[in-house]
Amino acid sequence: MATPVGDDLIRPKRFRRGIDLGPPHPVIAQPIEEMPAPKLLHVPLKQHYGLRCEPRVHVGDQVRMGQLLGESADPMAAPVHAPVSGKVLAVADRLDPFGRKVLTVTLENDGRDEWVEPPREAADFMGRKISAMMRAIRMAGVVRGDGVPVHTRLSPPERPKAYIFLVGIPVVKPIRLLIVNALDAEPTQAVNRRLLVERPEDIRQGVDLFKKLAGVKHAALAIGGDLTASSAPVRAVVREGLTPVSVDLRYPVSQPHLLTTAITGREIPWPDGVPRDVGAMVMDLEAILAGLEAVRDGKPQVDRVVSVTGPEMTSRNLRVRLGTPLGDVVAFAGGAMDQAAKVVVGGLMSGWAQYDPAVGITKETRSVTVLGPQNLVRFTEQLCVKCGRCVGVCPMRLLPNVMTNFIEFSYFDEAVDAELFKCIECGCCAYVCPAKRPLVHYVKHGKAEVLAKRAGR
Ligand code: SF4
Ligand code: SF4
Repeated sequence: MATPVGDDLIRPKRFRRGIDLGPPHPVIAQPIEEMPAPKLLHVPLKQHYGLRCEPRVHVGDQVRMGQLLGESADPMAAPVHAPVSGKVLAVADRLDPFGRKVLTVTLENDGRDEWVEPPREAADFMGRKISAMMRAIRMAGVVRGDGVPVHTRLSPPERPKAYIFLVGIPVVKPIRLLIVNALDAEPTQAVNRRLLVERPEDIRQGVDLFKKLAGVKHAALAIGGDLTASSAPVRAVVREGLTPVSVDLRYPVSQPHLLTTAITGREIPWPDGVPRDVGAMVMDLEAILAGLEAVRDGKPQVDRVVSVTGPEMTSRNLRVRLGTPLGDVVAFAGGAMDQAAKVVVGGLMSGWAQYDPAVGITKETRSVTVLGPQNLVRFTEQLCVKCGRCVGVCPMRLLPNVMTNFIEFSYFDEAVDAELFKCIECGCCAYVCPAKRPLVHYVKHGKAEVLAKRAGR
């Protein structure tokens, strides 16, 4: 059976919900800089959606860069590798950026960056078997910025059984269109944008690779803001089989479900649908490049780009080793955690406030924002005034007011019935709420209570 072309799926539809967060942040103009690896790194063994990895090193071991630190049999997990060479000082629970206690490997960097196997570009990598390419991506621990391991989203349409064999997930719906996400999740993030500008040749190779892995002939490049199809960075990567599609930059349109609808005009089936249900797969540029490095160079994911911003600092985009302490990243960018009123990892709308400067950067850390007292928003326990603004902006078409009222008074089962777990914690509802109710906090609290109850805790 011939593979469907897929470009018939490109039917852009205006994204009308969510909110307009204003013009892009100046961080989009800052080139990516290399941050030197610090002396001490804390590498969590869970930097992905699934179960945490089991450690494969012990205290006192000498490790080389790229050496396996932990792995798991869970198909939704991704292995974790050493971002530097050096000595294992500890394997113990530490806080991660989500405030969870996660088993973490603490490494003392010897400054030599000795690889267990140095990355080496293979000229004929596109000729490898698809199963070998997918295995390389899985073994390299490549994770999308939202924590989803990349290998769990790939499967050639004609090989669903091979896919089950490789990753243990029975996915049988074919992909017809690859959506290459060159947008960033929030205005203070510029990771995909900078990669689009700085690495056009790698992007062309990476898109070809992912098209082959997904078994599609066509891809759409999602762009927005001041970038159009005629902009130089877009023209540098576009060619036959990759169509640039301009998207209205209303937050949170870059979320995979919403972006799929904005590009294809098709609604994802409610309540448990995924982009694949309408024939699409969304992949961030950073994940595509990490996948390319895994297949072409044999390089595991040991670093990532992080946008660091703050009103009192020069915004920067830094390539950072995974496990680098948050305080070191802020200091390198010219700030100080102990003088900040608040430090947020992951964007101002949907991120997590941090108080421990030793928290390690993970594969899910797209940005760090340092705020002063003048930037803080104070939430209140005021009652809902029933204005309905939160309902109007919710991109998932939920009733945030109803759901959070249930949670506030501990009616958790009712909150689940109101689709609590469909909430993507984007923060739009809390942003517009005139009563300044901590709506996202209620959502997070509600989910934690329900999950604890289900686990019998
Ligand atoms: S209820 Fe959830 S998905 Fe809807 S606006 Fe609020 S945080 Fe976003
Ligand atoms: S925006 Fe705030 S006050 Fe208005 S309905 Fe929603 S929760 Fe209530």
